[in-house]
Order: sequence, then structure tokens, then C-alpha cells
Amino acid sequence: MHKKLFIPGPTEVREDVRKAMDFPMFGHRMPETSELMGSVVEKLQKLLYTENFIIISTSSGTGLMEAASRNCIKNKALHVNCGSFSDRWSSISKACNKDIDILEYEWGKGIHISDIEEKVSTGKYDTVFVTHNQTSTGVMNPIEEIGEMLKDYPDILFCVDAVSSMAGAEIKVDDWNIDFVLASVQKAFALPPGLAIAAASNKAMERSAEAKDKGYYFDFHAFKKYWDKAKQPPTTACLNLIAALNYQLDKVVNKEGIENRFKRHKEMAGLVQDWTRKNFDFFADENYLSPTVTCVKNTRGISVADLNKELGKRGAVISNGYGNLKEKTFRIAHMGDITPDEIKWLLGEIDDIIG
Ligand code: PMP
Repeated sequence: MHKKLFIPGPTEVREDVRKAMDFPMFGHRMPETSELMGSVVEKLQKLLYTENFIIISTSSGTGLMEAASRNCIKNKALHVNCGSFSDRWSSISKACNKDIDILEYEWGKGIHISDIEEKVSTGKYDTVFVTHNQTSTGVMNPIEEIGEMLKDYPDILFCVDAVSSMAGAEIKVDDWNIDFVLASVQKAFALPPGLAIAAASNKAMERSAEAKDKGYYFDFHAFKKYWDKAKQPPTTACLNLIAALNYQLDKVVNKEGIENRFKRHKEMAGLVQDWTRKNFDFFADENYLSPTVTCVKNTRGISVADLNKELGKRGAVISNGYGNLKEKTFRIAHMGDITPDEIKWLLGEIDDIIG
């Protein structure tokens, strides 16, 4: 029996989306690819409220995190860390031999703009890295306000990991002063894994043009060169997934509507949050609750593994806590194409199991 995915990625992929990948192959240097990429980029720019350059990368999101570290940091960067995925990003920068400082928050806590401002006002940093939605803790950070504050520091690039928020929460790239934002498609886009996307500002593209040792595969200008030539990818891309993305974006932009999609995510988050208040507690600071994933503190000491085993028999799966938070927390994802009715069903099943 298929277990419906209420885990924070990969998320449930609907049958019509899966079918959108089933077509006779064409080549990545053929006009079909140019047409497909052109159509995808136009819709992604709408979704992200941006005119910035769109990168479509045959990699998972981590690839584009590395791309940001390699293309954006000039001399020294500030990584603002609040959980496992921001830890990963600072480790990537270090692995790329970049000079970085880390502003560290306890897991479950959200970021304070004044702390970042105190750091960047020293003039030491040319790039700031922030995780929008911390999938490990269920924290969503105020990137709009951080971007606004960074407008006073025009030489700093603002890089955002929106892996588990993009397509599930509003991100107004141009208004919010975001120079590089990346996501994977297996989360709120509700597509199979293997593709990542990003938007890069002119400022980020200029920084990349000067960057040393940025490698080959993730060079922003490799993407730009082939886009300018024929709206094509620099290397052989996962065209079937890009076609599924095109199909999905048609649904998001033209059928459900971008704002409605965000509203649905908030509604689903509200259901899980009400349930959490009644039955357990939040791991995250309540001022920073995510609209795409809730991390529940296991205040009743239930066996999360047993709960998941029983849920499995009923056709669903949730996530145990991440890393050290295993059994101490569990996560319910409410992102992608999942509906409020499916969330209500899941919560009813959990109630029935734990009593
Ligand atoms: N950042 C965040 C916030 C994530 O949730 C994840 C994946 N869970 C990643 C980065 C890494 O993405 P990927 O697995 O697509 O490389």
C-alpha cells in the first residue's frame, strides 16, 4: 500500500503530475527544450515576483547552496544558523575554502534582525546567508524584514535557502531585496526530487563574474551563457522533471492561483497548529511558526516510531524528529498539493492511534 507522504520532502506527487513526465524524449539542444524552459522561467518569475535571472539546475537544492557559496562570497560571509540546514550551508562554505563567521541561534529559535544588523554594521561581510524555513525545527524566519534592513548595505549580497518554503509561502524576491534564493522541487512544489531552482539578482551575477575558483557545474554564468544563446541548460538536464515543473506551475499560477496556494498552506498549518496546542506543544518559538511544516514537541513521550508504524498500516507517514530531535519531536508536513481535508484525516488517524 502506498503511504501518503506527510513528511517534509519528498512530498506527495499527484498522478497527473507524474504523467506529465511521460512523453517521447527530445534533446536538450532542440527547440522543444527552449520552448519548455522559456515557459517555466516566465512562470517562476511570476511565482517569485521577480525579474531576476532564473537558474534551473539538475541537482538537489544542496547543489545550489554550494553554488551560492562559490559564486557570491567575495572576501567574507556571515552565516546565520538556526538548525541543521543552515549548519549544512556554513559547512559547504567552509568546504569551499571560504572565510565565514557564524551567528548561531539555538534550535527552535527564530532570527532577530537587530543581531544581524549588529554584525553587518562592522563592515566585515559581503554576503549574508539565511535559511527561510528551517525544516528541522519548523521555524520560519522574517526574510522580508532582513532584506529591508540590508537595503542600507548595498554591497552585501543576501542569499536565502527557501527549499521548504518556495511555492508554499510568499517570497517577493525583488521587493524583499533578495539577491539569491534557491529551492528544491520535492517540497512545496510537490514534484519528484532531482531538480533545483534559483533566482539571481544582477548584483549576484556581477559578483559571480568576478568570483575566483567557482568551479564549473554551478557557475551562474554557465547557466546565463546557454540561456542567452537559446534558453537552454548548460548541460544535459532532467527534461522530464522540467516538463513536470512546467505542468505544475501552470496549475499553481493559472489554475489554483499563487495567492490561493499560499492561503491553503496557511489553512493547513492552522489545522496542525490547533491540534498541536491541544495535544502537545511546539518545538519552535510560536512567533516563528512555519506555514509548511510543524515540529511537534513530544510532551507525552509517545513512541514516534510506533505511531508511524501504525499510521503506515492506515496509509500515511509522518517524520520523526531530525537528528538529535528524534523521538523528542516529530514533524508533520503540510506542504505541496496536500489538502486541508487530507490533513484533517491524518490528524484524526493520529488521535485514534494515540488515544
Ligand atoms: N535546506 C532545507 C531547508 C531543507 O529542508 C533541505 C532538504 N530537506 C535542504 C536544504 C537540502 O535540500 P536537498 O535535499 O534538495 O539537497
